[in-house]
Amino acid sequence: MRSLTLTAARTFEWTTLPEAAAPGPGEALVGIRAIGICGTDFSGYLGKMPFIEFPRILGHELGVEVLAVGDGVSHLQVGDRCSVEPYLNCGTCHACLRGSTNCCETLQVLGVHCDGGMRERMVLPAHKLHVCHGLDFEQLALVETLAIGCHAVNRAQVAPSDDVLIIGAGPIGLTVLEFARAAEAAITVLELNPARRLFVEQNYPGIQVVAGLPDEAAFQIVFDATGHAGSMAGTLRYARFTGRIVYVGITKEPVLIDDPLFHRRELTLFASRNAVAADFPRILGMIQSGQIDTRPWISHRCEFGELPGEMEGWLLPDSRVIKAVVRLEVG
Ligand SMILES: [Zn+2]
Ligand SMILES: [Zn+2]
Repeated sequence: MRSLTLTAARTFEWTTLPEAAAPGPGEALVGIRAIGICGTDFSGYLGKMPFIEFPRILGHELGVEVLAVGDGVSHLQVGDRCSVEPYLNCGTCHACLRGSTNCCETLQVLGVHCDGGMRERMVLPAHKLHVCHGLDFEQLALVETLAIGCHAVNRAQVAPSDDVLIIGAGPIGLTVLEFARAAEAAITVLELNPARRLFVEQNYPGIQVVAGLPDEAAFQIVFDATGHAGSMAGTLRYARFTGRIVYVGITKEPVLIDDPLFHRRELTLFASRNAVAADFPRILGMIQSGQIDTRPWISHRCEFGELPGEMEGWLLPDSRVIKAVVRLEVG
């Protein structure tokens, strides 16, 4: 079976994998039908993602079709369309036992720590497959990305009375925006890129979008979706007394915390990592009901065979990629 392997920075190679085995107990064999491409994939492709070692098969945002199920799997049938929860957790560590399967101490994320979905078929633990009949494969592939925003908004326990600042309106900022809006918060988006500001203005009426903020601006909850250490440090300035800050984006750099400011305002700082299983059915329901529509996010598409040729172009700022989706022909 055909698979695409990242063998070095900026180097994809087509490889032939042995055909996927029959699913064992608790497993399912799935056909990969759509793959979302995100910042993790781009930084992995560039060799800048610390968890991605070469060679690696990328692909963690997956819309799949069930081809066979193993013994003891009752919630799946052949032909089911599913979104994949790509966080393979151990189930026994401190974090897992507390229900925080998103930050398992030995977490393996498909396409990051272990090989992912850039291949025709693969066997997965059945409980990581979330069925939804009403959605197409592209919509299913974007559920994992949405889950990042869902979990971040849950971390901060956003309530209708909260005023919320979201810094960064890339794909991750947009997912935070979706769930902050669902929580009926008053939302301001801070984004330096004019094209991204325009996208929010056109697709999210009623949301305030700004290129900068006055010094006295203050919000109960501040989300940073830039992954930029300077921006992350600056979030403290924008938080009200008693405010909450959530780092959604991640940086390799240390983040400088202005401690007198942190203490004086008695702020609370959260990290947000991945998402938990319960987020997936909630999101599937929200897409099905029309509460969330990710279709405008898909700015670029290609067939699986075209992906190696498209990647470099998508990295260029002029490409204005919001979300790229790779489609796999059925076969
Ligand atoms: Zn992603
Ligand atoms: Zn664990």
